Amino acid sequence: MINFNIPPHVGKELEYIQQAIQNNKICGDGSFTKKCNIWIENRFNTSKALLTTSCTHALEMAAILADIREGDEVIMPSFTFVSTADAFVMRGAKIVFVDIRPDTMNIDENLIEAAITDRTKAIVPVHYAGIACEMNKIMEIATKYNLLVVEDAAQGVMSTYKGKALGTIGDFGCYSFHETKNYSMGEGGTILIKNSKYIERAEIIREKGTNRSKFFRGQIDKYTWVDFGSSYLPSELNAAYLWAQLEEAENINENRLRSWQLYHTQLEDLERDKLIERPFIPKGCIHNAHMYYIKVKNLETRNMLIEYLKEKGVVATFHYVPLHSAPAGMKFGRFNGIDNYTTKESDRLLRLPMYYGLKEEDILYITNTIRKFFTNIY
Ligand SMILES: *Cc1c(COP(=O)(O)O)cnc(C)c1O
Repeated sequence: MINFNIPPHVGKELEYIQQAIQNNKICGDGSFTKKCNIWIENRFNTSKALLTTSCTHALEMAAILADIREGDEVIMPSFTFVSTADAFVMRGAKIVFVDIRPDTMNIDENLIEAAITDRTKAIVPVHYAGIACEMNKIMEIATKYNLLVVEDAAQGVMSTYKGKALGTIGDFGCYSFHETKNYSMGEGGTILIKNSKYIERAEIIREKGTNRSKFFRGQIDKYTWVDFGSSYLPSELNAAYLWAQLEEAENINENRLRSWQLYHTQLEDLERDKLIERPFIPKGCIHNAHMYYIKVKNLETRNMLIEYLKEKGVVATFHYVPLHSAPAGMKFGRFNGIDNYTTKESDRLLRLPMYYGLKEEDILYITNTIRKFFTNIY
C-alpha cells in the first residue's frame, strides 16, 4: 500500500531529543527552540519567529496581536482548514468568506475589496499547497483600508512570492510543523512577526501573560503577570525533532520537488486529453511541493477515482469541505458575493500521496493507475 503521508524523519531526531534530555531542559524555550527560531528568522528574513505548539495557536496569537474583538470582520477564503477561521472566531470576529481563483485555489484578490466594510479588521490569505496568493495586490488593499494581514502559511514553509518567503509579507505569518507538513515536530508551528513593535506582546501572550522572556534575558529582576495570555510554547523535545529537519531543509525541499515534478510530467498527457487539470504555479512564485493535487471533471469522477486508487493500494484524499457550508461556518460567517468556484473546484480536487522519501517507482505506479482508470471509464 502507498500511504498518503509519512511524517518526515531525516535521521538525527532521536540524537537531538537525547541531547535535550541530557541538557536537563525538556520544557519550552531551551537551546533547540532558540536555534529553530533564529534559523527561521535568518532563512526567511523576518524580525521575529517564535515556535508555537501549532499553527492553530500561531493564528490565535496573531488574532490577539491584531486586537480582533467582538463584531470585527475578518476576510478569508472558505476553501481552507478550520483553524484559519477558528482563531478569529474565538476572539468574537465574524468571518467574511470570499471566493477563490480556480487556477491556484487561493483567495481571489480581485474580490477582496468588495467584501470590506467599516468593521473589517484583517485579511487572512491562505497559501494553498504552498503556492502564494497575489500578495502585492493584497498588501495594497490592506494599506489602502488600513487592515492587518495574517498569512496562513501553514503549507508554505520554504515557498516564496517575488523573492520573499511566505509568512514574512503580511503583518503576521503562521507556519505549521504538524506531521502532515513539509517539516515537522509532531505538533507545532511558528508565528512570524514583521513589525518589531509586536514582539514584546507576542512573547507575553505566549508565556501565559507574563514577562518571563524578558526575565530570562536578564532585562528585569522578577517576572510578573502583565496581560492575558496562554501557553503557546512547545516542549524542547519537539523542538529538537524539528531542529534535525531544519538542518536538512534543503534536502527535504529538493526531494519533494523532484516527486512533484515527476507527477507533473507523468500526468501531462492526461491534461492534454482534457481528462484532468494539473496545479498551476503563477509567475514569481516558487513553491515547496507541499502537495500534488489534480482536478477531475466533477465530484462523481473524483470519488470514483479515490475508490479506484484505494482498490489498487493507493491512498488519495479530497480536501476541505468549504467552511461556509459547515454548521459553524454558517453560524460564524457569511459568504460575500457568489460562490462561483469554492464549492465546484473543491469537489473536483484530489490529493495524491506526497511525502519526503516518496519513491519514484511509487509515483510511476500511481500515475499509471490513474491513466488506467481513465482508459477504463472513457
Ligand atoms: C495544517 C494547517 C493548519 C493547522 O496547522 P496545525 O499546526 O495542525 O495547527 C492551518 N491552516 C492550514 C491551511 C493548514 O494546512
